[in-house]
Amino acid sequence: MVNKDTCIGCGACVNMCPVGAIQFDEDGKAKINPEICIKCKTCEGVCPVSAITIKED
Ligand code: SF4
Ligand code: SF4
Repeated sequence: MVNKDTCIGCGACVNMCPVGAIQFDEDGKAKINPEICIKCKTCEGVCPVSAITIKED
């Protein structure tokens, strides 16, 4: 999930997601589509403010 309070809308995660699972929502914050996400955690690593947490289930 993306913490909308800390996301600064930099777009790094959107650009780096290998499957295109992240888009900006209407607030300009990143939003992950769980139907597409393969939980590779690339986005977690590239986010400059650590706004993303990928949960294993
Ligand atoms: S964990 Fe991987 S597949 Fe899922 S949103 Fe992040 S970069 Fe994309
Ligand atoms: S990399 Fe982090 S700060 Fe940048 S858009 Fe994604 S969640 Fe927001």
